[in-house]
Amino acid sequence: MEFNALVVERDEGGKTAATVQQIGMDRLPEGEVTVAVDYSTLNYKDGLCIGPGGGLVRNYPHVPGIDFAGRVESSADPRYAPGDAVVLTGWRVGEAHWGGYAQKARVRGDWLVPLPKGLTTRQAMAVGTAGFTAMLAVMELEDHGLTPDKGEVLVTGAAGGVGSVATAILAHLGYSVAAVTGRPETADYLTTLGAARIVPRAELAETVKRPLESETWAGCVDAVGGAMLARVLGQMKYRASVAAVGLAGGAALPATVVPFLLRGVNLLGIDSVLRPYGDRVRAWDRIARDLPMDRLEAMIQPATLSDLPELGAAILQGAVKGRVVVDVN
Ligand code: NDP
Repeated sequence: MEFNALVVERDEGGKTAATVQQIGMDRLPEGEVTVAVDYSTLNYKDGLCIGPGGGLVRNYPHVPGIDFAGRVESSADPRYAPGDAVVLTGWRVGEAHWGGYAQKARVRGDWLVPLPKGLTTRQAMAVGTAGFTAMLAVMELEDHGLTPDKGEVLVTGAAGGVGSVATAILAHLGYSVAAVTGRPETADYLTTLGAARIVPRAELAETVKRPLESETWAGCVDAVGGAMLARVLGQMKYRASVAAVGLAGGAALPATVVPFLLRGVNLLGIDSVLRPYGDRVRAWDRIARDLPMDRLEAMIQPATLSDLPELGAAILQGAVKGRVVVDVN
């Protein structure tokens, strides 16, 4: 039996190309659970893995797709039976292991979580790794004392995947969200998601000149990193926290330690890839509860496997709005 997959191949000169191909079940990697994939999605990392790999892909030919949702087809893991609806994010699937850009995937049972009650497989992938990580970031901020009465919460890279979901969740929880975007044309979209005000990217783009500016933000979900994160640290309120999620604007952090020392600011690292099972289940349950499904729907851009090479390049340019949902069938 054969199935469709987006396969990335690399030629002898090191150049990669991604095409939709029919491949046999015998080519699937090892794993206890074979899943008939319904949907996958597009994250920043997928953009890297569809293209030259960004150092993430180890072996070619490769099937990218760092997340998927579908139904178990066969299982040697007693926790999963044929027909069970499941979700996968992380564990380097789609990077070191073949991923979700295919009608079939084979993975370790430990990497799966049951589809949370109240979500369809399509909605789970509208959330995807980006949205799951946004939820983890909000939970981490809450664990460090953030409550809606403390003041405005900043979301950077707001029109992207992490930023869109973070904006919608925070607004639903009663926070006043200030959404940073470099795309003014997304203002209506961000307001629909619940943003209370739009902050132009240019206002935070300059590198730190003064280590402390006025205390403005009670919390921050940061998908951008780089100079913007450095600026934001100096604008946090006393003992407020920033959840560092991404590096869409750069990996370097041209900051000073002054906000940590004089304002007790916390910089919280968010990793979604190796999160233990219990954390994953808690985060998905919170998503099902705290992310309004009409706002999630407003984020969705539908796509098929053959759209992915173009969309992969677009997400690396910061040109994808919201969440791409890939119907692999
Ligand atoms: P997207 O491309 O969807 O969103 C990133 C957004 O950042 C863009 O939409 C844009 O928003 C903004 N942006 C892009 N380039 C720049 C720039 N040069 N300067 C300032 N802002 C910029 O990506 P995702 O939401 O999928 O991922 C966001 C980041 O989070 C990535 O770095 C990704 O690797 C990381 N990530 C980390 C995870 C973890 O486990 N820690 C898990 C998932 C993602 P706008 O147009 O609104 O300005």
